[in-house]
Amino acid sequence: MAKIIDGKAISAQIKEELKEKVAAMKADGIEVTLAVIQVGKDAASSVYVGNKKKACAYIGIRSLAYELEEDTSQEELLALIEDLNGRNDVNGILVQLPLPGHIDEDKVVRAISPRKDVDGFHPQSVGALCIGQKGFVSCTPAGIIQLLKRSGIGIEGKECVVIGRSNIVGKPMALLLLRENGTVTVAHSRTKDLKEVTKRADILIVAVGKPKMITRDYIKEGAVVIDVGIHRNEGNKLCGDVDYEDVLPVCSAITPVPGGVGPMTIAMLMNNCVESAGC
Ligand code: NAD
Repeated sequence: MAKIIDGKAISAQIKEELKEKVAAMKADGIEVTLAVIQVGKDAASSVYVGNKKKACAYIGIRSLAYELEEDTSQEELLALIEDLNGRNDVNGILVQLPLPGHIDEDKVVRAISPRKDVDGFHPQSVGALCIGQKGFVSCTPAGIIQLLKRSGIGIEGKECVVIGRSNIVGKPMALLLLRENGTVTVAHSRTKDLKEVTKRADILIVAVGKPKMITRDYIKEGAVVIDVGIHRNEGNKLCGDVDYEDVLPVCSAITPVPGGVGPMTIAMLMNNCVESAGC
């Protein structure tokens, strides 16, 4: 019987640990503050921002909300980031993506000081990860490493296959698995025989963005399967990139959707905020 990796429980455990840390920091006179910037009123972004604020409140992190109008100019946004970069009472800065079309996302991400880049998207943060130096790590892949470690699943020496090479999931995921001494292969849309590659995996990370694409014929018997995907199916129910029911009988452990990788992303964002305050 496959182990169901409970992301909800593991993220709750991390949040409790952070709550204790933040209380201890407060007692030492250190306050953790996250600035959250949203431009426009995209419904999904509002939900994500709301969840981040809620998590901050629970852990004891002060959050500053900047809800800017859709027509805010790039210069205004960059000026706000510049101001927040210079403030000693702000530890982390998060700009909710996507931004409206008239704003250059890349320029905005680069404007955030790497010391306050709690999303881990700044090229300096990515570069630091690549060469094994200290820096903020993208929250979803960092959360997956925690899921594996806290479930007692070793990475060292394992064949790890990541499907997907996006900048926020696939690539940092591969680098983190490498840092944990996994033997890492990255598969993507131009990979020739995907099944042949994925069937080598002891640990398979699926970040392909296609509902239920990965069925049992992609899986080696006994593999650990981590499903990053999140979609709504025809019945408006959440599902992942993995066909969960089909894969469950052949794997040794699997993350469900919802309740697997999803809750870990915010937990790791909170972790980065606490780290940004120097804990
Ligand atoms: P993306 O669309 O940027 O990247 C998808 C990757 O899959 C690409 O690199 C592409 O090369 C690869 N790919 C596409 N079709 C393929 C195919 N047929 N065979 C092999 N590879 C193929 O997506 P992303 O931002 O990396 O996100 C992936 C999924 O994870 C999405 O469903 C997204 O919603 C979800 N996601 C979840 C969280 C979370 O917190 N749970 C966070 C980020 C993304």
